[in-house]
Amino acid sequence: MKVPIDRLVPSPQQSAAAPANGPATQLVQTGRNSPDELVYVNPPLVRGTTVLAPNLRAWRERACLSTRDKPRAAYGRFGTPTTSAFENAIAELDGAYRALCFPSGLAACAHALLAVSAPGGHVLVSEFAYWPLREFAETTLCQLGVDVEFFTEGDAAGVARRFRPDTQAIFLEAPASISFEVAAVDEIAAQARARGIWVVMDNTWATPLLFRPLDHGADIAVQSASKYIGGHSDCILGVASCSEAAWGRLAESAVRFGQTASPDDLYQALRGLRTLPLRLQQHGRSALHLARWLEQQPEVAVVRAPGLASHPDHATFTRLFAGSSGLFSFVFRPCSEEGLGAFFDSLRLFGIGLSWGGYESLVVPLTARPSSAAGAPAQRGQLVRVHAGLEDIGDLVRDLEGGFAAMRAVFREGPTMVVDRDDETCTRSA
Ligand SMILES: *Cc1c(COP(=O)(O)O)cnc(C)c1O
Repeated sequence: MKVPIDRLVPSPQQSAAAPANGPATQLVQTGRNSPDELVYVNPPLVRGTTVLAPNLRAWRERACLSTRDKPRAAYGRFGTPTTSAFENAIAELDGAYRALCFPSGLAACAHALLAVSAPGGHVLVSEFAYWPLREFAETTLCQLGVDVEFFTEGDAAGVARRFRPDTQAIFLEAPASISFEVAAVDEIAAQARARGIWVVMDNTWATPLLFRPLDHGADIAVQSASKYIGGHSDCILGVASCSEAAWGRLAESAVRFGQTASPDDLYQALRGLRTLPLRLQQHGRSALHLARWLEQQPEVAVVRAPGLASHPDHATFTRLFAGSSGLFSFVFRPCSEEGLGAFFDSLRLFGIGLSWGGYESLVVPLTARPSSAAGAPAQRGQLVRVHAGLEDIGDLVRDLEGGFAAMRAVFREGPTMVVDRDDETCTRSA
């Protein structure tokens, strides 16, 4: 017996009408559509290109479907049941009309912005947004005739001063994933919506468990599912959740560009989703513990974690976000490359590497803002982005202690270590 197609693809309206369970329960129950009448707890991985029609009449019915109604259009690029299981799960979690997957987080960010801008229009992009998205906006989007303007304001009044009659869209990321500014997303979105401006937000840091952008006025919420959703550092994937108003634009343009994602990666991400609440809780707890510990170290100039009371945007953060995830940064007082090398090279548990959201702890030296950015203050000390993984917290602290000890040993050996004489030095006061 063939299963009616609607059982394979539960409409998001159906899931929206279901009694509201907590997110952890949702994540156990969601996306269980199965390609046959056997409903597996974990939906089987479905790969495929062509789906055969049983007869001519069925073929004609299928041909009438809009390609946006993927995967019912029955071609692998529009998705398989694995795709719809993942997309439905994210839409449910985000409280969105529907969600659409992309081959990477960057593709989701770039495509979402592309879908709501047009030649001749004005688009506002946060100066602190994910760096490759910023590059997409200032090169490709500009080449397409869009007037792109970057802004640093985090308050609604400040941002609203930049709105013009031809402003089409605004792109936000909060907290910013290197420098951790937290914009007043809800107030900015309200101002934008009142003027008919589309609001796109990169919500990779928080995931829908800690913040749901659409509840706070965003039209499209994008995430890199390569981070916490996948959670195991083994897949590259993006997803965009949207309001009913934004769905048509996003889906039509994504279909035209042939945007799709591999069912294998979607399967990994769906599997990762099931344990997201537990993982995120531990990442957040460990990150705050490490951030507080780092604040006590004399070599550290500042710790940038919005969950700390010392963070300048802490009030906005606690007003909007349900908690912290595992990513934050700190800035060393200016010191020599040798001192930094001693710190990084002696770490045994923290890997030096990009990305985050997996189970492992990472550190990476980064620049807070592109030096080309207008008015960007020169970065003095080295910024280090930290991802707190799922290791035992005592072991992580010990690893950092080893790093600081190695650094101090270098400072004790000679006065040549200090490179920036205008600022406080790295020399230990003891
Ligand atoms: C990593 C990241 C992206 C891009 O995701 P990929 O899946 O690596 O393409 C976008 N936004 C933020 C905030 C990220 O950290």
